[in-house]
Amino acid sequence: MTGTDESQPKPDQFGGPIGALVLSIVMPLAGFYLWAALEHHGGSMWLPRSVSDVLSMFPAPTLRAIVLFVAFVAVHGVLYAFGPGKVVQGRPAPNGEQAEYRINGLFAFVVTTIALVAALFFDLLSAKTILDQWGPLLMVATLFSVVASVICYGAGRGRGSLERSTGNVIYDFFMGTILNPRLGRHDLKFFFESRVGMGGWAAFAVLLPAAQIETQGSLSTAMLVVTLCQALYIVDFFVLEANLLSMIDIIEENLGFMLWVAFLVWMPFNFTIQQQYILAAEPSLSTLTAIGLLVLNAGGYYIFRSANLQKQQFRRDPSRPIWGQTPQSMQTKRGTKLLLSGWWGIARHANYLGDMLMALAWCLACGVGSIVPFFYVIYFVPLLLDRERRDNTICQRKYGADWDRYCEKVPYRIIPFVY
Ligand code: NDP
Repeated sequence: MTGTDESQPKPDQFGGPIGALVLSIVMPLAGFYLWAALEHHGGSMWLPRSVSDVLSMFPAPTLRAIVLFVAFVAVHGVLYAFGPGKVVQGRPAPNGEQAEYRINGLFAFVVTTIALVAALFFDLLSAKTILDQWGPLLMVATLFSVVASVICYGAGRGRGSLERSTGNVIYDFFMGTILNPRLGRHDLKFFFESRVGMGGWAAFAVLLPAAQIETQGSLSTAMLVVTLCQALYIVDFFVLEANLLSMIDIIEENLGFMLWVAFLVWMPFNFTIQQQYILAAEPSLSTLTAIGLLVLNAGGYYIFRSANLQKQQFRRDPSRPIWGQTPQSMQTKRGTKLLLSGWWGIARHANYLGDMLMALAWCLACGVGSIVPFFYVIYFVPLLLDRERRDNTICQRKYGADWDRYCEKVPYRIIPFVY
């Protein structure tokens, strides 16, 4: 698509260029604010009242943090390139290009997790010493995101065929100008989302409970609940890593500042907010509440996983039974079929409901002493509400009148029979 193409997309998502500008500032700031809340204010909300308060939000990068960050990316780069795993082709992009993906995330996750746990167990590594670099690491990851976004923006602008760019600099910087930037034939977006984003989250999800054992002698019930719930989510992700290839992130969204910050800052640093809070504030959790939250998480996980699997399996084998019945579907002019059975017959994104319930369980494990650990659910629910509407627009564009017919048959967006 060229800059003068009549079908050039409009800058109409996230409130347009002004929304993109605000989010470009707020997204990284949120990471620093939360870090300062935990580092300087015992995990409570706080208001900067002076210039020095504002400056206290921005940790200086250290050489140690730079080395840790680079080493982490390098280790995952080596495991991606040389670890065993099949190479699969992605969907052809609108300009016809097709990236490749090495599906060996589970191998990389198992190797790095075993190495980390063994190093902690045999006292070769101190979790606390690494977590002392949390602030500097956050700064390094944020600065890396800025630089990478500028490079990706330039790379997208320099190509003959722009991918869904609008021509508005601020908006395109935030949303990106390139769908699947590649190194050789391999998609860098996939690598940074799966290996650095999810891999970073996985590493911190081990280090934070380990630091509690180091400093307090044992794991608290709250830490145990959050760690178990997140472990389920992370292991599930790596076992089914190939499913990422049909997610909106990979097939629809350009790699701009939004995704760089999401992958490098929000996933590792903000999605572990509950464990960070539990480490700092030591909330107590009764056994009964812990069991209730594990059940809530299991319910959310069941909806999330079964809904996503139904769609994946239907795409591979449209005759495979769903809930014991032959799947109902509708043929579209685009060529693909839309599933009308299972979760996809009672809501258009029940998978998002599962995610929301899991997020709620993780946050509630922190008790109600502070709103800070609820950051995850407070940002995640509106994000998914908005994501459903954005996917609706994308599907209207992809499927035209067929999508309207599907919406008539399946009127609920996320919560069956409610919303
Ligand atoms: P989906 O997996 O729901 O994918 C949407 C796409 O699926 C549509 O664009 C369309 O693409 C296809 N589709 C829609 N309806 C149907 C149907 N009835 N039959 C067949 N295909 C259909 O969305 P996401 O990629 O956003 O989410 C995937 C999972 O990841 C979700 O569970 C979500 O909650 C989770 N997630 C987690 C995040 C986190 O930060 N933890 C962030 C975002 C998402 P097409 O027809 O072209 O295949």
